[in-house]
Amino acid sequence: MGAGMRRKLAAGNWKMNGLLADLAQLDQLAKAPLPAHVDTLICPPATLIHPALAHAKGSALAIGAQDCHAQGGGAFTGDIAAVQLRDLGASAVIVGHSERREGHGETDALVAAKAQAAQAAGLCAIVCLGETLGQRQAGDTLAVIGAQFAGSVPATLDPALLVLAYEPVWAIGSGLIPTLAQIAEVHSSLRAALAARFGAAPAATVRLLYGGSVKPDNAAEVFGVADVDGALVGGASLNAQDFSAIVQALAAA
Ligand code: PEP
Repeated sequence: MGAGMRRKLAAGNWKMNGLLADLAQLDQLAKAPLPAHVDTLICPPATLIHPALAHAKGSALAIGAQDCHAQGGGAFTGDIAAVQLRDLGASAVIVGHSERREGHGETDALVAAKAQAAQAAGLCAIVCLGETLGQRQAGDTLAVIGAQFAGSVPATLDPALLVLAYEPVWAIGSGLIPTLAQIAEVHSSLRAALAARFGAAPAATVRLLYGGSVKPDNAAEVFGVADVDGALVGGASLNAQDFSAIVQALAAA
């Protein structure tokens, strides 16, 4: 299956931003005509998932979460199980975002367990991978991404419920993005890693997102890179106009 047969995906990550009043942004997104061949997903903070679903109702806009626990339930104060997210109506969950890997000490093994838990609950697992600036400058990018893939994307995962997001840590929230050649190199290495793990045909169905300072003014060139099937968007997803412009750029790519 070629890239043309994968549905594109524009996913927004609101991080720890947003109050009930900000769901008006979703009304704007939901009422705009969403391109039929692009999946659009917003992952608001957990407090807003339920009301966000009400705002998105009747539209093609899907709602996801930013994290889940690796266990299905139990004595884990403050945590949220994947099955609880699914119960609300969420369809996807981000796991292994660098802000969780760095800020919460999440290891590849934990990210793998979370991805497994997400899929067991019927959620699409969006697994994030990415190198730090020091690792890129040391020439270690492909080795770092390869190791994160090996540890975070176990062969037991279902490729049909899997999305990978390449998010260089230094590009997140910084306004910096890698060169298009650097994005292409990592995405092609991830496609090869997927093929080695799941077989060529299942691997070809997995969407590969680029994430890190995607904005309306750079989206088109990023979406022109081979094996980029969409974006994971932080800051620009908070504003409906900016996110819509990114969705339109993806639709046109
Ligand atoms: C992110 O955190 O997933 C992200 C890509 O953020 P930003 O778009 O703000 O760089």
